[in-house]
Amino acid sequence: MLSAMATLILQVATNYQDNETEGIPLGLELFMLGLAFLLLIALPLLTLWKGIWVNYPPYLQNKYKPYLEEIPLYHRLNESQKRDFERKVQRFIAQKKFISRSDNLKISPRKKALIAGTAIELTFGFKRFDFAHFDRILIYENDYYSKITKQYHRGEVNIKGFVVLSWAAFEEGNADREDGINLGVHELAHAIKLENKIVNRNYRFISKPDYRQFLNFYKEFAAKPHSTNDFLRKYGKTNIHEFFAVCCENFIERPEEFEAKMPDLYRHLCKLLRIDPIRIGNRLRS
Ligand SMILES: [Zn+2]
Repeated sequence: MLSAMATLILQVATNYQDNETEGIPLGLELFMLGLAFLLLIALPLLTLWKGIWVNYPPYLQNKYKPYLEEIPLYHRLNESQKRDFERKVQRFIAQKKFISRSDNLKISPRKKALIAGTAIELTFGFKRFDFAHFDRILIYENDYYSKITKQYHRGEVNIKGFVVLSWAAFEEGNADREDGINLGVHELAHAIKLENKIVNRNYRFISKPDYRQFLNFYKEFAAKPHSTNDFLRKYGKTNIHEFFAVCCENFIERPEEFEAKMPDLYRHLCKLLRIDPIRIGNRLRS
């Protein structure tokens, strides 16, 4: 019995020895260890680091801060909402690439702060609205020539993932913040509406019944003959996309007048954009 056991142990030991000599080559072993380290430790750490420092910067850098004074909605916010607004502006700046398309145009902190501020002005009502599809902002010094349409443009939103702006037109829109005409708000409103269609975080942020109701507002507006006294400009009759963009321009620049002249449409926009600019500052928590 004892000798049988000794033989078995010897056999196992011999097999173990054999496995050792015929096992995985050292190079492959090291490669697999490296791969495991990358997948289990390095990549999750990198994602976490990027998540904290790129997507969620804790506060707005000082170089951008003074320019938020130029954003009308910012003035309507209470102190805690202002901090939230600043964080969102910083996140937008960190997430997007701002690209100059003219030799004389420098991407300054003011340009970044004003473009990001306009984007957040429109989406402040959302806990998080990343404009995930649009990662590049192309800026021209003036109106630019499009080879596709063979026309000069002031701005556009391209489904390939970029927003294009003429800086001169952007500044012109901001020069009067009460006339309901603002290129920056207009183009970013187009971007928001596209995000509603693209499958990502903000896909279908407008529910189907809300969209149908908005469509009815558009049809009613488009069917009426235009009068110079009308609150919304005629360009809003072009199609539902332009109607949304024109509504947003007025919603941001002159909400009190909007509510007084077209109360039902104003309230519906509050619902779609999850914010009432007139009363936002009275809320205790944003
Ligand atoms: Zn438009």
